[in-house]
Amino acid sequence: MKSKHDVLVIGGGPVGLSCAYYLLKSGRQVTIIDANEVGKGSGHGNAGQIVPSHIIPLAAPGVVTSALKWMLDPALSPFGMKIRFSPAYISWLIQFAAACSESNVQRNLPSMRSLGQLSAENLLTILAEEKIECHYQQTGIITLFKDEKAFLEGKHEAEFLGKNGVPTEILDKATLHEREPIALDDVIGGVHFTGDSFMNPASFLAELAKRVRAMGAEILEHMPVMGFELAGGKITKVRTASGEFEAEHVVLTAGAWSSIVARDLRLKLPLQPARGYSVTVAAPGKMPRHAFILGDRRVAVSPFGDLLRFTGRLEVGEYSTTPDPKWLARLEKFVREYIELDETLDVKETWAGLRPVTPDGVPVIGRAPHLSNLIVATGHAMVGLSLGPGTGQLVAELVNGRTPAFDLRPLELERF
Ligand SMILES: Cc1cc2nc3c(=O)[nH]c(=O)nc-3n(C[C@H](O)[C@H](O)[C@H](O)COP(=O)(O)OP(=O)(O)OC[C@H]3O[C@@H](n4cnc5c(N)ncnc54)[C@H](O)[C@@H]3O)c2cc1C
Repeated sequence: MKSKHDVLVIGGGPVGLSCAYYLLKSGRQVTIIDANEVGKGSGHGNAGQIVPSHIIPLAAPGVVTSALKWMLDPALSPFGMKIRFSPAYISWLIQFAAACSESNVQRNLPSMRSLGQLSAENLLTILAEEKIECHYQQTGIITLFKDEKAFLEGKHEAEFLGKNGVPTEILDKATLHEREPIALDDVIGGVHFTGDSFMNPASFLAELAKRVRAMGAEILEHMPVMGFELAGGKITKVRTASGEFEAEHVVLTAGAWSSIVARDLRLKLPLQPARGYSVTVAAPGKMPRHAFILGDRRVAVSPFGDLLRFTGRLEVGEYSTTPDPKWLARLEKFVREYIELDETLDVKETWAGLRPVTPDGVPVIGRAPHLSNLIVATGHAMVGLSLGPGTGQLVAELVNGRTPAFDLRPLELERF
C-alpha cells in the first residue's frame, strides 16, 4: 500500500464511485478509502429510481407544515425526527425550516435540473459503454393516488414541473388501470414521469466498483478515515488506523457521515442523516410494469427482474442503520393499499440507509473555501443514486482545472 496518491476519494457510495470513474477516464490515478465496503453504504438497498424529474429541493414550501401534521399520526407518518439536544442538530433544523420557501426552490431549480439531466445522460452512457446489467428500465415512474385532494396537488406539481422541462403525463383512472393493471380499483389516477427510470442499485454499484477497479483504482476497504493534518492551506495527510496518506487532491464523498469525517477540517458543512428503510421480496405472481411512488404514503415500489422492493420513511437525525421491524411491516401494509400482492411474500432482504441532507436540501459540489486540495461532493439527500454520474463528471472537471459543465456557484459550500 503506497502512501503518496494522486486523487484520494473518501467514501465509495454512488457519488464516490462515480467520481472515481470520471477521474480515471480523465487520466487521473485514484484511490478510494471506505470505512466499510464500497457500494454497500446508503446506495445499496435504496429504491433504485433515477429521477431527473426531482428538480424541487427537499426544503420546499409546505414541507414543515406537512411534517408537523404527519407527526400527529406517528403510525402512518412517512416522516420522523430524532430528539437530540446538540447545537449543530438544532441549528440544522432551524436552517431547514427557514429554507422551506419558494425562493429556495426558485434559486436551486436551474442547478437541480442541470445536474439531473447531466446525470441521466451520463448514466445511459456508462451503462452502454461498460455493458452493465442491472435491470435498468425506462418505462418511467408513476405516482399513484387514492385521495382526490392529493391527486389534485399531484396534478398541480406535474403542471409546474412540465413548465420547467420535466416530461409528465397525467393519467385518469381508466388510462392508469390500462397502463398498470396491478393497481387496485380504488387508485383514482396517477402522474407518469416518463423521463424517469429505475434499476437495481446494488447490481449497478457492484458493477461500477468492478469497472473502477479494472481501470486501475486502488480500493481500500474497512478503513475509516479518522482525521487530517493541515498545513499551508492544504490537507497534507489523511489519517486512518492503517496508516497515513498523502494526496494531490482529496475528494470527500462520505455521504451522511461527511460532516463527521470533516470534523477537524474547520468546514461549515451542515449535514444530517435522514434514515429510510427497504424491504425486498421475491417477485410475486404479478409484477408491476413501472416503478411507483404511492402518493399519499410516500412509499416507493420498484421491480428489478425477479425482485420487488418497497422503500420509505424519512427519519431526520438518526444515524443507526438497524432497520425497525415495525416500519418494515408498515411499508408492506402501505403497498397492499395500492397494488395487488400475493398473500404471503418471500422476503429476501431488509435494510436501512442514511440520506445525506443539507439544510436547503441541495447537494454540495465544489472546492472547500480554505483548503486548496479538497473537493466536497455530498448532501444528495433522496437522489444520490440519480445524481451520482453527473456529480462524478463535475468533480473530475474541478480536479482537472476545467470549466464545469454548468455554473456550480449555487452548489458551493460558501452558501452556508
Ligand atoms: C430508503 C432510501 C431510498 C432511496 N431511494 C433512492 C432512489 O430511488 N434514487 C436515488 O437517487 N437515491 C435514493 N436514495 C438516496 C441515496 O441512497 C443517497 O443519496 C446516496 O446513497 C448518497 O450517496 P453517497 O455516495 O453520497 O453516500 P453513501 O451511499 O452513504 O456512501 C458513503 C460512503 O462513505 C463511507 N464512509 C463513511 N464514513 C467514512 C469514513 N470515516 N471513512 C471512509 N469512508 C467512510 C461509507 O461506508 C459509504 O460507503 C435513497 C435513500 C434511502 C435511505
